[in-house]
Amino acid sequence: MHVAIDGPSGAGKSTVARRLAEALGCVYMDTGAMYRAVGLLARRKNVDERDDAALKRMLEGVEIRAVLSPEGQRTLLNGEDVESSIRNQEIGMAASNVAACPSVRRALVEMQRRAAQGCDVVMDGRDIGTNVLPNAEHKFFLTASPEVRARRRCDEMRARGQAADLPTILREVQERDAQDTTRKESPLIRAADAVEVRTDDLSIDEVVEVLLALMGRLP
Ligand code: C5P
Repeated sequence: MHVAIDGPSGAGKSTVARRLAEALGCVYMDTGAMYRAVGLLARRKNVDERDDAALKRMLEGVEIRAVLSPEGQRTLLNGEDVESSIRNQEIGMAASNVAACPSVRRALVEMQRRAAQGCDVVMDGRDIGTNVLPNAEHKFFLTASPEVRARRRCDEMRARGQAADLPTILREVQERDAQDTTRKESPLIRAADAVEVRTDDLSIDEVVEVLLALMGRLP
């Protein structure tokens, strides 16, 4: 079984997807973490985040995996665990920049399809229902207002002990939305057959329950 969960940043996708995967006994795959790892690598190697040819060369022989282990989410860049280096706004923006490049998308989509082959998976991202897993049995598109999403990001960062300024985060959320929805390659849009769920006024538990109900999986 393949479940696709798409939507803008801060709509609650990753927490919901992880919980849904647990409830269904599926693997959870966070594709945003993979774009973040590419953004991190570009910054480390001083590669222009909008130079498609340079990014293509940079990615030759590189392996990226986003796995859920008993210790939690891990993102592996050539085997190195970079999870703690990618969860900040700066790398979020770098991820959004590299994600607009066709060769980066091609490389990651291939890794994602390969990883999903033959296993039950809940995958979250921006293009899962439209491009990565177009035949997924269940497709959801989670949304919330930019203000609610910025507030959630802010709370998440503070919970991790990071400094977070709400107006700055709101600006970055809006900037990332604009970039993700207007890019030429696989822009963020709802797949025609995806069910849209607005999460503004729902807790994580409630969203998971709504999705399980839509899948006919509630007892
Ligand atoms: O979900 P997350 O905020 O970690 O994603 C970081 C960035 O990676 C997004 O802003 C988006 O530009 C890009 N992304 C994408 N396609 C995906 C997942 C993420 O373009 N499937």
